[in-house]
Amino acid sequence: MTAPALPEESPIARDVRGSSSRSIWADVPDELWNDWRWQQRNRLRTAEDLERVVTLSEGERRAIAETAGAFRMALTPYYAALMAREDPACGIRAQAIPRVDELTPNPTDLDDPLGEERFMPVPGITHRYPDRVLFYVTHNCPVYCRHCTRKRKVSDPTSAAGHDQLGAGLDYIRAHPEVRDVLVSGGDPMTLSDERLDQLLGALRQIPHVEVIRLCTRNPVTLPQRFSAATVEMLARHHPLFLHTHFNHPRECTPEAARTLRALADRGINCANQMVLLAGVNDDARIIREVNVWLLRQRCRPYYLFQADLAQGISHFRVPVARGLEIMRALRGPVSGMAVPTYVIDAPGGGGKIPMVPAYVESIDDESVTFRNWQGLPYTYPSR
Ligand SMILES: *Cc1c(COP(=O)(O)O)cnc(C)c1O
Ligand code: SF4
Repeated sequence: MTAPALPEESPIARDVRGSSSRSIWADVPDELWNDWRWQQRNRLRTAEDLERVVTLSEGERRAIAETAGAFRMALTPYYAALMAREDPACGIRAQAIPRVDELTPNPTDLDDPLGEERFMPVPGITHRYPDRVLFYVTHNCPVYCRHCTRKRKVSDPTSAAGHDQLGAGLDYIRAHPEVRDVLVSGGDPMTLSDERLDQLLGALRQIPHVEVIRLCTRNPVTLPQRFSAATVEMLARHHPLFLHTHFNHPRECTPEAARTLRALADRGINCANQMVLLAGVNDDARIIREVNVWLLRQRCRPYYLFQADLAQGISHFRVPVARGLEIMRALRGPVSGMAVPTYVIDAPGGGGKIPMVPAYVESIDDESVTFRNWQGLPYTYPSR
């Protein structure tokens, strides 16, 4: 007996498909549509490009013009086609099209919200925790997320990681035997060619103390076509390799993304999701649950839920922490614990990730601990 096929697309994504905008590319043959180079070449970069897909508001048009110098706009046709033409509250649109709020600084905004420069021993390496480093290998991404925490560097050609910088990063890792885990990040490392990635991952693999490599990429969301069979094979040559990605909304849960995540899992590449809690996009437990159970079906494990940090011009995305905690409380219990991420705040100034956990414990003394379960019912347990 064969098991019934699981849906490749999330139910919410399916409901909204009718309003998606692929129709303007209806004459593009599937071979081109599924070719990541075509997707890269045909990215939408101007208000005129976007007007073919969505009806822009006056504010969006102004924001596109005024943010152009600060943080580039680009959308792959694939990602743009997930937007609703007329819905200004669309969760994809909010992530990819500038809004005037970006132009209004908030007094709490910081230039370098995570103190990355302070923990940067050489350009391109952040070494904050004892056994692992972040290694920035490019400043490019297929889609520039308006909520990007690294927007001061990402998209800026003057911060491009040249050959020398990559070499210096590798030298630093070679010289630090305590580094057993390297997060290859950017920008989006999958914007490098397969040849360059293969070389870079190979160079890391040559370092005996580097045990684990983590590839941090949003391509499964913004350009799932990037992972051809040959690319997945190349990545799998560098095991143990993990992939961290960034799904935020059910509209991103498409058959194309599902196939990519499954192809990676089939070659033993464990995928984990790092969602960012974003006002108006996913600040609702039902939405997060929907994305996370879909991810599990594709064998991608929800890992972190990030509180938006204090980067310049993204304060309109911030969700109150109390609300984030309520969402976490609503996740734990009704769905598999596998679908429950760890909610963290990356502490301003470089304190690292700090878990935010709803208060389940009500009191603890020498005798007993009292707490409430996911349904709010009280229980006790001997405290020792
Ligand atoms: C998030 C992060 C890591 C990885 O943290 P994990 O909790 O191990 O996933 C490493 N270095 C820096 C600077 C980070 O911000
Ligand atoms: S893909 Fe990542 S690095 Fe690139 S813009 Fe989005 S959040 Fe920033």
